[in-house]
Amino acid sequence: MKKFKRYTVTSALPYANGPLHIGHIAGAYLPADTYVRYLRLRGEDVVYVGGSDEHGVAITLGARKAGVSPQEFVDKYHEMMKKTFQEFGISFDVYSRTSAKVHYDTAQEFFTNIYNKGILKEETSDQYYDEQEGIFLADRYIIGTCPNCKYENAYGDQCERCGTSLSPRELINPRSTVSGQPPVLRQTKHWYFPLDEYESWLREWLLEGHKDDWKTNVYGQCKSWLDQGLQPRSITRDLDWGVPVPLPDAKGKVLYVWFDAPIGYISATKELLPNDWEKYWKDPDTRLIHFIGKDNIVFHCIIFPAMLKAAGDYILPDNVPANEFLNLEGDKLSTSRNYAVWLHEYLQELPGRRDELRYVLTSISPETKDADFTWKDYQQKVNSELVAILGNLVNRVMVLTWKYFDGVVPNAPQLTESSDARAGINRAKEQTAAQFNESINEMINALDTFLFREAQFHMMNLARAGNRFLADTQPWKLAATDKDAVASILSFSLNLCGNIALACEPFLPDGAAAIRRQLNNELSDQRSTFWKERRLVDTITGGHKLNKAELLYRNVEDADIERQIEKLKKAREAKAAGTPSDVKPLKSQVTIDDFAKLDIRIGTVLQAEKVEKSDKLLKLLVDTGIDRRTILSGIARHYKPEDLIGKQVTLIANLAPRRMMGIESKGMILMAEDKDGKLQLLIPSEPVNPGSTVS
Ligand SMILES: [Zn+2]
Repeated sequence: MKKFKRYTVTSALPYANGPLHIGHIAGAYLPADTYVRYLRLRGEDVVYVGGSDEHGVAITLGARKAGVSPQEFVDKYHEMMKKTFQEFGISFDVYSRTSAKVHYDTAQEFFTNIYNKGILKEETSDQYYDEQEGIFLADRYIIGTCPNCKYENAYGDQCERCGTSLSPRELINPRSTVSGQPPVLRQTKHWYFPLDEYESWLREWLLEGHKDDWKTNVYGQCKSWLDQGLQPRSITRDLDWGVPVPLPDAKGKVLYVWFDAPIGYISATKELLPNDWEKYWKDPDTRLIHFIGKDNIVFHCIIFPAMLKAAGDYILPDNVPANEFLNLEGDKLSTSRNYAVWLHEYLQELPGRRDELRYVLTSISPETKDADFTWKDYQQKVNSELVAILGNLVNRVMVLTWKYFDGVVPNAPQLTESSDARAGINRAKEQTAAQFNESINEMINALDTFLFREAQFHMMNLARAGNRFLADTQPWKLAATDKDAVASILSFSLNLCGNIALACEPFLPDGAAAIRRQLNNELSDQRSTFWKERRLVDTITGGHKLNKAELLYRNVEDADIERQIEKLKKAREAKAAGTPSDVKPLKSQVTIDDFAKLDIRIGTVLQAEKVEKSDKLLKLLVDTGIDRRTILSGIARHYKPEDLIGKQVTLIANLAPRRMMGIESKGMILMAEDKDGKLQLLIPSEPVNPGSTVS
């Protein structure tokens, strides 16, 4: 394999629209963190880059729902994610964000560069436009009836009921989620990246060049994309949130989030190393590795490499070890349904247990297929592996050394084989050392090929071998008769613990630190020898004073996990009972004075008719007690005009008049809307005089 001078390692930029959960961590962050910790221990030059993805419709939609500006919205989640990553120990060298100035500059330069090369194509097409709000509608802002299953609230890009992938033009009765009005088609100009022109290059670079070193799930997905044929992709959008397109005739247009987000890796590196970033992106001796979840494969393996190729000068990803998905107790993790183990909650509710979560997530890492996290399995792995194998070994060795040698590493001369027991000890030492060398080698081979689950298994085999050594040599039986033999066993065992501290550092940084603390040795001199030469190294010298023994890990009690299981059960029940996520979030607080400004009354419908060219609006003539006036109401799909005549309705009487479809509407009929968008009039339980007020 090619020898690289330095490494640029990235983890997918998480959307700044919600907290982090264990699925995110298992997918793109823990494997990357384990890998960069390994590289650093080996003494490599590495930058580990991350940041928040703060653009795109998910953000503007989230902000609108929360009733705040997109910037306020991303500020909140960016800070939250940054803090959680830090507290969990994901060791980014830089955690940036795509609303940073350095990113705007970098993304615009990137666009300008390929624009100036004449690579981009301009195209004008019809897109849905919301006339009332004066905005073009992103696919997610349009809902309508699914042509496939007739679900009435399918999104412009996908029907969430039947899963069909859609384009907005396919929706029946499309409507804007912003204004509720039917959108109109309007011409707009966009810039396209000609991905199709990179197809043969991609085939050569990816399908031929990375056939043997990329994971089969990644390679397979790329191949199927390429075999379907690539299309030009629009890289701009009509939106007011994002990186503005740096062209004079592009007012109101921003870069498409999937164009600007991967450039975020470059801008984050620039933020970290303003004068030195280029060698991490442009020197062919730098190895670029993207850690992602499988939903991002096409962007990191096909689109971003093609962008980098188009820009020129840039290195390309050498590997993209994407993971499959993690499930939770047999169900899909879901942010919107609040069905997840949230990382910030885990850190609060199970304090001091970062390693435990790292260990369990790595041991079930969804490297080749989807995996399932369960709390029972978590408890079992912590108690029977971390506590009973690794913690137990270190604790026994420490306690015995304190007991027999008062906490000082005994001097252990070569044991002359004057007894069977001594011959057995020498043999066991040789076998154990050989086993260590083999497991260390296998662990590092697995790390080099991104098989973290397997690497961690070999790491734990070191502790297993250490326990076996103690069980075979039984120093406690020799204490009364052969102190030199005990010294030999314990100094050898202490050295095993030192090597385990080195080996477990990428996986269990807290445990590694705790072993070093007990050994009273930072092991800084041995680190790079261990990781470079892949063998048992000397970590212990006779006469060295140890610190007191401490427990590396504590058992997880039933009560700890029962609380967690109960939480998930509640989230499931809430879903079954009608999903709180279907309930719109609370609007910001108002005063009684705000409320008093609204004039709400009961009126009686005198006439009702359909509005021409609108399948949504009815034109009502309403007796408000004060006057008779025309009010337009968007209930045509829910009520027939003839059914409304004579009905009492609740209305806002002092709303400023609005013109819709050429008709002036003087007021608004109040309605209840359920989660499926079904509307119902609010009618007094007994008839009242028209003009009765509501308060
Ligand atoms: Zn459908």
